[in-house]
Amino acid sequence: MSNSALSCMRVISPNRNSPRNHVIDTITIHCVVGQTSVEWICNEFSRSSKGASCNYGIGVDGRICTIVDECDRSWCTSSASNDNRAITIECASDAFYPYAINASVWKSLIELCADICRRNNIKQLKWVDNKALIGQVSVQNMTAHRWFDNKSCPGDYIFNRLGQIQKEVNQKLGVTSVDTAFKSYQAQVNADDGLNCRTSPINGQVIKTYPDGTVFVISKENGNWGYTGEGWVCLDYVNKIASAKDPSTKEEIIMDGKQFAKLWNEMRKAWQDNDASGYSEEARKWAIDSGLIAGTGKLGNGEPNYAWADMLTREQLVTVLFRYAQMIGKA
Ligand SMILES: [Zn+2]
Repeated sequence: MSNSALSCMRVISPNRNSPRNHVIDTITIHCVVGQTSVEWICNEFSRSSKGASCNYGIGVDGRICTIVDECDRSWCTSSASNDNRAITIECASDAFYPYAINASVWKSLIELCADICRRNNIKQLKWVDNKALIGQVSVQNMTAHRWFDNKSCPGDYIFNRLGQIQKEVNQKLGVTSVDTAFKSYQAQVNADDGLNCRTSPINGQVIKTYPDGTVFVISKENGNWGYTGEGWVCLDYVNKIASAKDPSTKEEIIMDGKQFAKLWNEMRKAWQDNDASGYSEEARKWAIDSGLIAGTGKLGNGEPNYAWADMLTREQLVTVLFRYAQMIGKA
């Protein structure tokens, strides 16, 4: 066993167990909650009163330090069994939500993970985002501190990008997408009387019965049977749940109802939506010119009187407005 040659300094912490009691088959990435240097990370995790450590730290400039040799167990993830099998890495991050790491740290993290995999015979990183698969390294060999303790570590920035980290590390390792042909997916039991979970497909012993509606992750398949992490179920009685997009993309595009209402109100203000005849003039002119509504002469005050053209019925318009009102919480 060796340490990474990418590390530029080594300050060994007393907060460790020597040697580790398990082969290295997992990587756990953490956030420091501070844009700190490697010198600071080494000092901080080498204080015995800190009671914590990590195998590697990555400073704000991307430099890497060694705090616990790979052959030893760090005190990092609030779980002896995890830290005995995992290489733990503390990354300099923002001190505030979502605890983002900068591009230098990201680059070093990818290189370091690839180097750890190569030297420890880990063929590829696997991330499913499923706590129930802890220890099943053939389907998931990355873990998250938040699974073992009431913490947000590694922060949403890193957590939502563990899939991306996995992808970039695997590219460095020369793993093609073909090697990861089977993709785990979420599924829900669709059987009124529940669904038996067996030790093996078809004739295996029944371990338990999942109630109708139970959601689990199928991590491997064998014919018409799927593995739930606990045993095998017949896939005739589950519905596959459409896989969500990459959460790191999702977090940037989702707008919830409240946010929409806020923007809508700001927009109305910008339009000075307090004078019906003034603010809507342009819209009315457009609607008449385009034939959406037909002008039928003038009212007493000189304003045009409108009748709806066939193109858009009152019912359709009312429906559109009602849906809008629902969306902004006004109906
Ligand atoms: Zn942590």
